[in-house]
Amino acid sequence: MKTTLHTDITVRDICDGFVYNELEGKGLFGLSGKLVIQPEYQRNYIYADGKKDVAVIESVLSNYPLGLIYFNKVNDNLFEVLDGQQRITSLGRFVTGKFAIKDSNGMQQYFSGLASDLQERILNARLLIYECEGTESEIKEWFKTINIAGEALKTQELLNAIYSGPFVTLCREEFSNSQNANVQKWSAYISGIVNRQDFLERALEWVSRGEVEKYMSLHRFDTNINEIKAYFNSVIDWVSTVFIDVESEMRGLEWGRLYEKYHHQPYHPLEVSEWVKKLYADPYVHNHKGVFEFILGGMQDTKLLDVRVFDDATKRKVYSRQTEESKAQGISNCPHCAMGHEANRTKIWKLSEMDADHVAAWSKGGATDISNCQMLCKTHNRAKGNK
Ligand SMILES: [Zn+2]
Repeated sequence: MKTTLHTDITVRDICDGFVYNELEGKGLFGLSGKLVIQPEYQRNYIYADGKKDVAVIESVLSNYPLGLIYFNKVNDNLFEVLDGQQRITSLGRFVTGKFAIKDSNGMQQYFSGLASDLQERILNARLLIYECEGTESEIKEWFKTINIAGEALKTQELLNAIYSGPFVTLCREEFSNSQNANVQKWSAYISGIVNRQDFLERALEWVSRGEVEKYMSLHRFDTNINEIKAYFNSVIDWVSTVFIDVESEMRGLEWGRLYEKYHHQPYHPLEVSEWVKKLYADPYVHNHKGVFEFILGGMQDTKLLDVRVFDDATKRKVYSRQTEESKAQGISNCPHCAMGHEANRTKIWKLSEMDADHVAAWSKGGATDISNCQMLCKTHNRAKGNK
């Protein structure tokens, strides 16, 4: 790979012919049409938060360096921004009046309202630009290793770069587009930020059953995204049909895995809704996130709920009563061991070797009080756990 350092390109040069696409959230072109600011494999513009974008302008006004910018030379008349897209887009948006900064009196100032010496200071600022020339794979491999200052690339952003092509482009239009009207609905079940590729990451994880890289590589040159869209919508439709109420704890659950495991089972949405309410209201249920899988699995696996355990005083009381009675009868103080035929039939366990158990299962309405408590050795308690 060949690299050349340029120190003479100014903000004025870069912003000549700057085009920003509001709808796609992308800086498109600059450098009199010779620069593609956002190649396919680049992420969307994420600096438009009134802080990072403003900081770029303030740095230039204070003559602070903006850091290295990398261009990929496609040919003599075409360059792509490899690294620096956020900074360049901020400069372009400011110069074209898309956002304002605060001046020394705290007043909002757009570029056109700045004193002309300040305008000139911005336009004449020089950027440090590394121009790189190499094969696509060289460029991509290298892109994978550079770390954008302050805003490290997320895994999915890297994967989008590595597997760039028509499939990623179409996927991003659907799953990374904050203008997509479905985003609000999806947000009930998926956590993260749409333009940081978190939704696309989920969609890929679900359809590929966790084999994201393999899937992306296999579909890289596909010109449609029918499969991933259909699968993603099936998961979302299934969740929203089974669970008619949206709870905040549903966000970020492993819906892809749950869909695979349970979508062939029939559920009665109204009954499910009653159960969710009941479990949410139950003071013994500690983990509300586990409620959904608990219900899907037929309300067997109480571990998912992190049910509140018996307190220490109760455990000690039950332990000493059980132990006294067992010693008198010459049997184990674990009632299950006592019924068995193994060596543990007469074993007296220490308190620390036992766990408290609900005699009548908590999930069947058994109370968490002393009358419903028995101590079991850890092995037997674990064995009973899911029943
Ligand atoms: Zn036992």
